[in-house]
Amino acid sequence: MTLHLYNSLTRSLQAFDPVEEGKAKVYTCGPTVYNFQHIGNMRAYVFADTLGRVLRYKGYDLTHIINITDVGHLTSDADAGDDKMEKAAALSGKTAWDIAAFYTAEFKRDLNWLNVTEPAKWTVATDYVPAMIDYAKSIADKHCYELDSGLYFDVSTVPDYGRLARAATDEGEGRIDEVSGKHHQADFAIWRKTPAGETRQMEWDSPWGKGAPGWHLECSVMSAAELGMPFDIHTGGIDHREIHHPNEIAQNQAHECSAHTGASIWMHNNFLIDRGGKMSKSAGEFLRLQLLVDRGYHPLAYRLMCLQAHYRSELEFSWEGLGAALVRLKRMVMGVEALKVQLAENNGGMVGALSADFDAEISNDLNTPNVLSLLDIVISLKNTADKERMEAIGAMDRVLGLNLLTLSRADLRIRPKSATITEPEIEAVLAARKEARAAKDFATSDRLRDELAAQGVEVMDGDPLGWDWKLGE
Ligand code: AMP
Ligand code: ZN
Repeated sequence: MTLHLYNSLTRSLQAFDPVEEGKAKVYTCGPTVYNFQHIGNMRAYVFADTLGRVLRYKGYDLTHIINITDVGHLTSDADAGDDKMEKAAALSGKTAWDIAAFYTAEFKRDLNWLNVTEPAKWTVATDYVPAMIDYAKSIADKHCYELDSGLYFDVSTVPDYGRLARAATDEGEGRIDEVSGKHHQADFAIWRKTPAGETRQMEWDSPWGKGAPGWHLECSVMSAAELGMPFDIHTGGIDHREIHHPNEIAQNQAHECSAHTGASIWMHNNFLIDRGGKMSKSAGEFLRLQLLVDRGYHPLAYRLMCLQAHYRSELEFSWEGLGAALVRLKRMVMGVEALKVQLAENNGGMVGALSADFDAEISNDLNTPNVLSLLDIVISLKNTADKERMEAIGAMDRVLGLNLLTLSRADLRIRPKSATITEPEIEAVLAARKEARAAKDFATSDRLRDELAAQGVEVMDGDPLGWDWKLGE
């Protein structure tokens, strides 16, 4: 089946038709590394990874680029506020470079935990500053004007500015702050001058004075440098549909002297929200993947939670929901473990039809919730050759990235940080309990089980795993 993807530009499904036959070139806006990523941010990368996996499953030779924004992103997406990196440096007393290195490493560890495939290349914004200056020079005369604060892009010089955003959301509108002297409210800085008398940690010489590139410029330059223009798919969170991506499009059009937006398809994942609304870092306290792990939830349970929702739907985070995803993952892993034991059996049939359904669902704008339902069916199928089932599970899992063929249930048993008892201590109590039961001393056996329960350990009689951590918030 032909792969269809939802294009935010047209707000409709579109058949994927690559610029170069057999290839798929994808650019994903990466994190600004001034802080940890919250699990909402990580949803954006699980989505981009799922897209990449689907493109590979469809046989395309994928080049996926993710950038690291280590300069230029202001505390407002429009042109006001401080540079997030400089601000974090001032608050922590560390250099902006150290901060970038630290949070980049933390981000990559989270990606690894979520089984997100390494991109073909990480593009780090500060490595591309000379290219950004050249790019800005090439569009400055026709499309930009200079103010005391920097070089500004005049959005009236390109066709259809803001087509991607359509009706701006409240949030998009609210974030357009005024900079005095701008010709239009939506004009944006592509180069920000260091204010007279100040020195920034990250600044470069340019024809417009010492300063730093604008965040929107960075992504246009890095995507063009690595993928060429036009390329196939540009991804990001839905907030980017309002300002960041329309601004990238304006620059791409100016630079290429074309009405083409630079990417054939613009795709946006919806937000992870919690009861208080959209998860964001400005709220101070926020949920990190580390916290989920500290509480005993395997990170792939969070990946599964993301896949249970369509990427274009909002997803509400709750601990109960995460717990339910973990239980589902355990069931899947148990099913696959049982299948491994049974391998080499009988008749055949069904899987072929289910594989076609799988292809249809995933080709329909990455319908992962329906693929998961099919996967549940394949795992529990009777009267079908086990080898075929295993192959079908393997194919689905390569797209879902849940590591079902290699994970064991024991791997999913993550020690919560709050635990006061160690695994060897648990095993010792269980051995004593086994002896008590052999001697028919059920009072002792019950007491030992209750003691473990009081320490957050659930004894599971008749289950080969024997015990598990009890998880809560
Ligand atoms: P940032 O580091 O702020 O540039 O964000 C990194 C990525 O996370 C971007 O693609 C954002 O659009 C995306 N993002 C931010 N908040 C959320 C959220 N609550 N849910 C899903 N994606 C988000
Ligand atoms: Zn970007």
